[in-house]
Amino acid sequence: MTEYDRNEEPLPEAPRQSGWRRWLGLGNPEHPSTQAQPSRSSDNEGRYDLLPAKRRLLSQVSDFLIDHDLEILPFTLTVGYECVTGGNPRLTQRILERTEKGLPVTLAWLEEASATHSRDATAEAMAELVGKLELTLADVGKTMAGARDAAGSYSAALEGHVADLQEAKASDDLVARLTTLTRRMLDHTRSVEGELAASEARIDRLQQRLEEARRLANHDHLTGLPNRRAFDGMFEREMREARLAGEGLCVAFCDIDHFKRINDVHGHPAGDRVIRYVADVLGRISLAKCHVARHGGEEFAVLLRGVSVDEAWAKLDAARAELADKRLVNRVNDMPLGRVTFSGGIADVFACKSRSAALKAADDALYAAKNAGRNCIVIAGRTAPRPLREAA
Ligand code: GH3
Ligand code: MG
Ligand code: MG
Repeated sequence: MTEYDRNEEPLPEAPRQSGWRRWLGLGNPEHPSTQAQPSRSSDNEGRYDLLPAKRRLLSQVSDFLIDHDLEILPFTLTVGYECVTGGNPRLTQRILERTEKGLPVTLAWLEEASATHSRDATAEAMAELVGKLELTLADVGKTMAGARDAAGSYSAALEGHVADLQEAKASDDLVARLTTLTRRMLDHTRSVEGELAASEARIDRLQQRLEEARRLANHDHLTGLPNRRAFDGMFEREMREARLAGEGLCVAFCDIDHFKRINDVHGHPAGDRVIRYVADVLGRISLAKCHVARHGGEEFAVLLRGVSVDEAWAKLDAARAELADKRLVNRVNDMPLGRVTFSGGIADVFACKSRSAALKAADDALYAAKNAGRNCIVIAGRTAPRPLREAA
């Protein structure tokens, strides 16, 4: 239960998605005892009946803003409204997780989180569309190729007939007319054949462009790494293949430490370059059985197949140490960025009940690494190192 619904009277096991009914006092269809009774009063009285519910809804939204110390803006009001009414369950879930971890839900975080969600939704819709187009084009391509082959054989047959007709008596008017007609048909068939070949070439080019669009939909434009969407697909595939091959599989989250400070002190473009740099360091451990993806913001997700959790730890820790040893400089103004570090949490996938349980275990381990002082990698289920010196 979050801070912002603490004043609400709890209903017995009311499902989460029916929140808006609860806020509006309409009850829950699965819990008849909580159903609002149909009003026998006039419409006007009906409106007044709803007033307490409206007040309660408004007060829930304002509690949300006050509890998170957020400014009153159209954006924050919308987010608050969506959270208390269940209108954006994915964002609400992320807010709940962050609140449970005791992390602040700031305006900057909310903007980033909701932008990520809309980017994800757009990329998903794009990828679906690209997939459908590719299927359609493949079908059209096959039909075209078939039609071109048919036109080709038709032309060859016509050509044979023209030759036969020419060998017949030239004086015969009917033969002459038939020859002319067949020639016309032959010309037409040849031009259709040419047009079909050109259309096929256009379809080929379009298919290549769609392939490129699909690549873009699966990759993060800033770092060139696979994005969260692609990572989800890779995770499913790697899990299947690791199971078949009897190999181990580990999943890890790596998150840049105190990244907000970099943005605040050096600006967003410098922050972007740091994200790219960390992506390069992590990307270097990517091999056939190790995949690094940008999971969002300054967070990366890593899949390591065919290694034990200790070997996976050693691999990630080497990348962590490589980065921590560097002293970065902002190449635009030569200002030192200092030491940039990341923390990581790693989980043995097959030691967890499900894929989402493995992701949660890795995320919890990352949180433990942050609590242990950052700039370290923690294995899920193991004791985190004693708090280290705060990363500079
Ligand atoms: P912690 O060590 O606990 O992870 O602290 P942090 O400052 O790294 O974490 P926090 O979540 O408070 O801040 C992350 C910031 O990353 C907030 C957000 O504005 C910024 N950010 C997210 N995506 C990008 C991006 O693509 N480019 C830049 N420059 N900043 C980004
Ligand atoms: Mg961070
Ligand atoms: Mg983060």
